Amino acid sequence: MSLFEAVIGLEVHCQLATRTKIFCACPASPPRGVSVADVPVNRATCPVCAGHPGTLPVLNRQAVDYAVRAGLALGCEINPRSQFSRKNYFYPDLPKGYQITQFDSPVCGEGALSFSLPSGERRTVRIQRIHLEEDAGKSVHVGTHSEVNLNRAGVPLIEVVSHPEMRTAEEAGAYLRALHAVVTWIEVCDGNMQEGNFRCDANVSLRPVGATEFGTRVEVKNVNSFRFVEKAIAHEIERQTAILKSGGSVKQETRGYDPDRDATFSQRGKEEAHDYRYFPEPDLPELTLAQAWVDQIRSELPELPDQRRARYERELGLSSYDAGIVTSSRELVRYFEESIQLGASSKALANLLAGEVSRLANEKGTWLGSRLLPIHLADVVRELQAARISATAAKQLIGLAWESGERIADLIELEGLAQVSDTRALEAWLDEVIAQSPAQWSEIQSGKDKLIGFFTGQVMKKSGGKANPALIQELIRKKVGS
Ligand code: ADP
Ligand code: MG
Ligand code: ZN
Repeated sequence: MSLFEAVIGLEVHCQLATRTKIFCACPASPPRGVSVADVPVNRATCPVCAGHPGTLPVLNRQAVDYAVRAGLALGCEINPRSQFSRKNYFYPDLPKGYQITQFDSPVCGEGALSFSLPSGERRTVRIQRIHLEEDAGKSVHVGTHSEVNLNRAGVPLIEVVSHPEMRTAEEAGAYLRALHAVVTWIEVCDGNMQEGNFRCDANVSLRPVGATEFGTRVEVKNVNSFRFVEKAIAHEIERQTAILKSGGSVKQETRGYDPDRDATFSQRGKEEAHDYRYFPEPDLPELTLAQAWVDQIRSELPELPDQRRARYERELGLSSYDAGIVTSSRELVRYFEESIQLGASSKALANLLAGEVSRLANEKGTWLGSRLLPIHLADVVRELQAARISATAAKQLIGLAWESGERIADLIELEGLAQVSDTRALEAWLDEVIAQSPAQWSEIQSGKDKLIGFFTGQVMKKSGGKANPALIQELIRKKVGS
């Protein structure tokens, strides 16, 4: 029994996929396929986003449209009136000396997000608010001096703020993945975490089990992968537990996460809202939304990932876990739908997509450069089901097709990945293994069934992973029986 329970609330910044910035006509993101890092420094700027005095912001209608779309997709109240505010602070990457954001009057109010945990258990986390704001620039530290790149300054963001009602790192990770699925699905955010287009601040506090008041919270800033968010939270829970158990008290502060040490570290004391001297932005009128416009956006919303997940479970009998992963991105859904059209059985296909395909996509961090096609998946599923390849070979084939785009049949031949189902070859391997492990073999013969796994494994090894495991087992049983 643990004495404390964790309380977790997430603030997620999503960069809106608008063509131009939120208050000027500068490009908000590089053309598709070009990395932010490759855009020349300070070239996507103008006097407005560079913060020159006397310039005036003009609100980007598309950014508002996207914020409303996200709000509707997350079941939020849409506020017909909202207000921009100035958040004042000094930092070299913030030339105006304030960030234009929304404070006490955000564009979207209360909403909720439902999702599955890896165990299949369902959860709903309430959302407090979504507000619109501009991004800051970026300080780049070079040797003994720093440079400022304002290409990002003025890029539109929404910040999605959850209620503090998650309890475990795993739950926070699942919430974050589900949120990512929604905002990328409705195409308001490209979701690229490496480039910082979807980033998360995790607020973590502890309280005695049964307490109703919250404990002091620590905010872990800008962690840029799902796994690292989970690890940072898990580490923070451990750290705070140790402090409280030894009778100490947690300091309210902002911390960073260092993946190399798998630890959080103190960055600065936490500011309070009054430190920022928020006040209404005098250069922008109140933001008013016509009901007809909101209704129009609502009517254009697609079927959402969680609705589709439910449909896949209901209509195709997919497990909640597989269905959740298949519907976590548009790419996976496209592979799924198109491979089924090409004849793949849905369950085996969902398995591949939830396993090797999403593993590869996560590892690469992008689908750009992938040559994998739905036909590859349909072929792999067919070969797998006909036992002409092993599960290991299936994974290898997906990796190979991703790189080369070659036909599966050619790859099987080229790489020698066909599964050996020839009884004579299997028997020869089995005999060799028996000769090497006579003691274990006599144990099997006296009824020690557990050792079947051992012998199967040994034959698999001898075959270089190509033997058909089901057939080996059958052979072993036959041999023992006779
Ligand atoms: P800010 O961090 O900007 O000061 P808020 O006070 O509104 O803003 O809190 C932001 C986030 O912190 C929310 O996601 C909320 O759920 C979470 N949060 C607030 N209090 C706690 C707490 N005691 N423990 C964990 N999370 C908390
Ligand atoms: Mg915060
Ligand atoms: Zn500009």
